[in-house]
Amino acid sequence: MAKTLVTGGAGFIGSHLSEALLKNGDKVTVVDDLSTGRLNNISRFRSNNRFSFYEDTILNKRLMKRLIKDCDIIYHLAAAVGVKYIIEHPIDSIKTNIKGTDVVLGMACEFGNKKVILASTSEIYGKDRPGKHVFSEEDDRLLGSTTRSRWSYSCAKAIDEFLALAYRREKRLPVIICRFFNTCGPRQTGRYGMVVPRFIRQALSGEPITIYGDGKQTRCFGDVSDAVRAVLLLSKNPKAYGRVFNIGNPENKVTINALAKKIRSMTHSASAIKHIPYAKAYREGFEDMRHREPDISRLKSVTGFKPNIGIDDMLLNIIKGFKSDD
Ligand code: UDP
Repeated sequence: MAKTLVTGGAGFIGSHLSEALLKNGDKVTVVDDLSTGRLNNISRFRSNNRFSFYEDTILNKRLMKRLIKDCDIIYHLAAAVGVKYIIEHPIDSIKTNIKGTDVVLGMACEFGNKKVILASTSEIYGKDRPGKHVFSEEDDRLLGSTTRSRWSYSCAKAIDEFLALAYRREKRLPVIICRFFNTCGPRQTGRYGMVVPRFIRQALSGEPITIYGDGKQTRCFGDVSDAVRAVLLLSKNPKAYGRVFNIGNPENKVTINALAKKIRSMTHSASAIKHIPYAKAYREGFEDMRHREPDISRLKSVTGFKPNIGIDDMLLNIIKGFKSDD
């Protein structure tokens, strides 16, 4: 039985990961300040006697010292996430993302070189460029101006990755970096901008489904159960130490227009589909990327991972979850 610490374990991916770790028989401690996480996400396993929960910030060094000393492995997922959240809370997002990771890596090193799985993001790659849709781990990054707040997330997470890789190089800390591409599943909230839960909520309530821009942009939506399985495979594999891995599902590629239509039909909704200019949806000067598709060949070759869940099954399962929440 491993003693695991999951920062951000009341968040969307964090709660699914915690549940999987408990199923594996591990002991799971979650620290989450509930800024974007929700108690609801952990309610189904909160009473498990191998589970404990601390509602606190990862910037609380006294607490973190105690929790990190006492664990074997840290899954560091606590971060400000979601395009909408980042744009609306720029100071907090930058601070939590950089300082929090500094605390986790520093203490993991200080208290016996504990294994750290660092959650990162496909935002790292920044803007797409003409003709480039697929991103692999060693690709260059292309970012917009600092006056466009979206890019602060990419920069903060890049600093996290640099720091993790530096701890690997200088201190031999066993770190693994997971760059999540668009990930969906039950319990994800649309409150911070994520498109799938937003469209489903709109469709089920009969409100217009709001597509930003012309809707011809594409994304690949991976199911959270696949993402969690990839994380667990990586965390058991010493060949992954000191390396970066894309996690996503290139097979589930869809335009946002097609996604809206799919969700409307699967929910048997009569919602209108409405296109909204970016400047109205976010703030003036917002930049979206047209296409973003993960190259997961590194993940496949190191772990043998293959995504299992197609887009229709993924969406049906999320819709079912929404209905049972009513
Ligand atoms: N999007 C949309 N309507 C919404 C929310 C998002 O059309 O209500 C679009 C968004 O502009 C982007 C895509 O859906 O092109 C995916 O957005 P999300 O914020 O889920 O993820 P990311 O932009 O990080 O890929």
